[in-house]
Amino acid sequence: MTTATPLIIAIDGPAASGKSTLGLRLAHALDYLFFDTGVMYRAVTWLTLERGFDIDDETAITLLAEKTHIDVAPASAPDGRACDVLVEGQDITWETRLPDVDASVSRVSAYRGVRSALSRQQRRIGLRGKVVMVGRDIGTVVLPEADLKIYLDASAEQRAMRRYHEILLRGGAADYSEILSKVIERDRIDSTRDVAPLKAADDAVIIDSDQMDADAVFEKTLALCR
Ligand code: C5P
Repeated sequence: MTTATPLIIAIDGPAASGKSTLGLRLAHALDYLFFDTGVMYRAVTWLTLERGFDIDDETAITLLAEKTHIDVAPASAPDGRACDVLVEGQDITWETRLPDVDASVSRVSAYRGVRSALSRQQRRIGLRGKVVMVGRDIGTVVLPEADLKIYLDASAEQRAMRRYHEILLRGGAADYSEILSKVIERDRIDSTRDVAPLKAADDAVIIDSDQMDADAVFEKTLALCR
């Protein structure tokens, strides 16, 4: 009996659970497009801060999300990026990772109008197929028809520790307890918002990576694809 490789793979889960690492490896292995939807919310957040908009101004931020041309392209530099993030043609890949963006992105992404503008674009790209799409609501809202849904989880402490080591590896300075409290706060906002809250789809395969390293998570997911 032959089984087909799933055409649309959705990977959801909380902050820093390793979704992007897994998604990128899977996309390479299957020769699929890797699409990290979080970068779109980050791009709108960066633009909001850059333009000096009030983070509470839902109307102005929604308009930004509707009007701004956000592009995600294959990585153009070997500097650790998973992809390029372009806003109106400007490369803002690393700007989307700034602490100010981290601190505000969950508030921006809770706005209904922002979500509907960005999810529409994400769905259009996802429906082309041969895609590994990573986010918080891919299996539940953006692409509920995905052929394989993974919900990648881990304890907040484990996720904060991984993020802490990533920053140190890049030569940055990091404070573990500060990272932990930010991760917890972001999860709280993401999972309690009214629109498309973070949660596992009923038909998702839940993988808890607390006791598994990145290789084991990858092998398990690849086996599910095949
Ligand atoms: O995945 P990443 O941490 O880059 O996502 C940044 C933020 O974007 C999340 O904390 C969440 O608020 C938002 N997001 C979302 N829905 C998605 C992807 C990301 O709400 N599909």
